[in-house]
Amino acid sequence: MRAAVLNAYNEPLVIEDLSAPNLGPYDVRVHIEASGVCHSDLTVQKGGVPMPPPIILGHEGSGTVLEVGDAVSRVKVGDRIISAFTAMCGTCWFCLHDKSNLCEGTGATMFATRGIKADGTNVFGMTGLGTFSDEMVISETQAVPIVTELPPEQLALIGCGVTTGVGASLNTAGIIPGSSVAVIGLGGVGQAVIQGARIAGAARIFAIDPVDMKRKTAEVNGATDLIDPANGDPIQQVKDATGGRGADYVLEVVGLPETILQAFQTARSGGTVVVVGMPRMDAMITMPAFNLFSDEKNLKGCMYGSSQNRRDFQRYVDLVETGRLNVADMVSRRIKLEEINDAFRAMEAGEVIRSVIV
Ligand SMILES: [Zn+2]
Ligand SMILES: [Zn+2]
Repeated sequence: MRAAVLNAYNEPLVIEDLSAPNLGPYDVRVHIEASGVCHSDLTVQKGGVPMPPPIILGHEGSGTVLEVGDAVSRVKVGDRIISAFTAMCGTCWFCLHDKSNLCEGTGATMFATRGIKADGTNVFGMTGLGTFSDEMVISETQAVPIVTELPPEQLALIGCGVTTGVGASLNTAGIIPGSSVAVIGLGGVGQAVIQGARIAGAARIFAIDPVDMKRKTAEVNGATDLIDPANGDPIQQVKDATGGRGADYVLEVVGLPETILQAFQTARSGGTVVVVGMPRMDAMITMPAFNLFSDEKNLKGCMYGSSQNRRDFQRYVDLVETGRLNVADMVSRRIKLEEINDAFRAMEAGEVIRSVIV
């Protein structure tokens, strides 16, 4: 298998020929047809979360099942699948309480061998996957079968960005019709948050980002108010438009302490603040404790859009198929595996919503 491997933090990825690991009884071998390039891949490359090299990056993919282990029951050869970056074992406490996005089985798959170098070195796959490759061996708990005619590139985005963003609006925030929503950070996930808010029936959607192209895309996706931080304090701009109160829901999709605090201050009293962006492991936030108490704001984390993958992936596919969710326009560039390092550069430069390896 040809895969893009991170051999040391802060170094470019290297395209390498690896051997696939042996197929365990609960593993499936997948031909990868498309893989989105997500900001979290960049965070791993920079050592922001503890996923040690050598590791195949990529956690947002779709493909077709080529082979299954002896005990596999959830998918069969020929199935189209979207890979999930958390497991869904189906039997742990979290899986049995509608919180499979927090499944206890995820830890075990994270550090499984997903490739082997010619010298025998074992290589991890990011989040138990490693979608920057032409093939992957993964646990059946991370392979979600999908019935659809949608192109692979759109299915891939459901593997992370769409599910995280749409799920943040529908599941984590639980946006109700007629409400006001502010979204800070308009990359791929932020655009999906905007669409989730639109699908939920929000009356006003404030889209906040310094990049002009991203704000314009947000408008197409359903934002009603475009806020450029260069035109003055974005918190005040939202408050001015909401009778001085602030938004009912504020979703932070950057993952920086400054923008998390900004989100907290943009929400109205009694409002809900959702941290959707993935911060670095060593990042800390300092909050005004009195206001957390006195303003009765709800501050929530958001893992994978609080989505239950085997329920929600097909649900989001159905929304795409009926034209209620637009994933096609989130694909800014189609690239080859060899162009992965340039895709990282383009993402950092704010040139793209999503590059997809096809
Ligand atoms: Zn991602
Ligand atoms: Zn579980």
